[in-house]
Amino acid sequence: MLRQTRIAPRVLERDAFGALIDRLAADGRRVIGPTRRDGAIVYAEIAGEKDLPAGWGDEQAAGRYRLRPRADKALFGYAVGPDSWKRWLRPPRRTLWRAKRTNGSFEIVRDDADAAKLAFLGVRACELAAVAALDDALLAGPHPDKAYAARRANALLVAVNCGSPAGGCFCVSMKTGPKAQAGFDLALTEIIDANGHRFMVEAGSDAGVGVLAALPTRKARQADLAAASAVIDGARERMGRTLDTDGLKQRLADRPQDRGWDRIAERCLACGACTQVCPTCFCATVEDHTSLSGNEAERVEVWDSCFTGRFSELGGGQVRETTAARYRQWMTHKLSSWHDQFGTSGCVGCGRCIAWCPVGIDITEEAAAVGAPPEDRT
Ligand code: SF4
Ligand code: SF4
Repeated sequence: MLRQTRIAPRVLERDAFGALIDRLAADGRRVIGPTRRDGAIVYAEIAGEKDLPAGWGDEQAAGRYRLRPRADKALFGYAVGPDSWKRWLRPPRRTLWRAKRTNGSFEIVRDDADAAKLAFLGVRACELAAVAALDDALLAGPHPDKAYAARRANALLVAVNCGSPAGGCFCVSMKTGPKAQAGFDLALTEIIDANGHRFMVEAGSDAGVGVLAALPTRKARQADLAAASAVIDGARERMGRTLDTDGLKQRLADRPQDRGWDRIAERCLACGACTQVCPTCFCATVEDHTSLSGNEAERVEVWDSCFTGRFSELGGGQVRETTAARYRQWMTHKLSSWHDQFGTSGCVGCGRCIAWCPVGIDITEEAAAVGAPPEDRT
């Protein structure tokens, strides 16, 4: 269990950053961190600091994502890419059980919870909020997801406060960032200024304190603290988007017939890309497969999306037949009924759905437009 642990921040110089990855690996953890792959930042297993996207940032807008080189060689100079930690906590495809015919009977092999120790390096503040949202959805109910619980319990979270928000970011509006507030074991702030390239490191749990104690750090000076604050303040001021959440929950809930849903549906392809990249979307379906011989079978859990027709099939028919109804379901769940279910927003303001929507549909614009007078709609 994470808890806030009060010890003074320390400073890790850039030249010693590899010691952090080495320490996490020495604890027997698979270290998962940002890498550059296929023109995007993707979370993958890393062997050392050489695997990090040093000197790469990103440019994001509605329907647009590009990596751009940075002159300052920052290790975490990007915002968030299409990937999220849910891929590691709740994989897109997972075998629940297998059955094999042996000696005229069936042997059932259940999926054992993955017990590998993990360390997530580079978790953004909005992503900490997303993990907390997944915890609410997958752990808190009467039937917790045991595989998720095992992965979650085995994951140490190293957050990195944001210094370079993207065009789609609106974590300030959602009160989830850009500074990591809770839910981390360690939190880093990358500082590059006249005093050098370094990281301020704060511990948020006993496990984090243990890792921090083993690193070659020094005490943070006043200049380090001021520089770290400036990084976060700068990010706060450069948010790409805003979303006015005052009254939003009720406004969306009260307007299931709003013309705004139809206007979105005129552009929406119902492709489901927004749900795949969203770090809090957790819907899944199960598929059964049998071998042609009939001797083997398996049940597989696969990510699904409220934009697919089969996902809304109930009693032989679709309860949400139109794209307008599916988009309405998605957005009202994120921004309205999630509050009723879990007491928070289901949207953490990461902006992924904006950048990765192939037609550039922007949740902040659409949420503002639902219920707005026609003359105020963009
Ligand atoms: S709805 Fe969009 S902005 Fe909100 S958490 Fe999901 S991907 Fe991020
Ligand atoms: S909003 Fe965009 S990403 Fe989401 S289903 Fe529609 S077209 Fe696809």
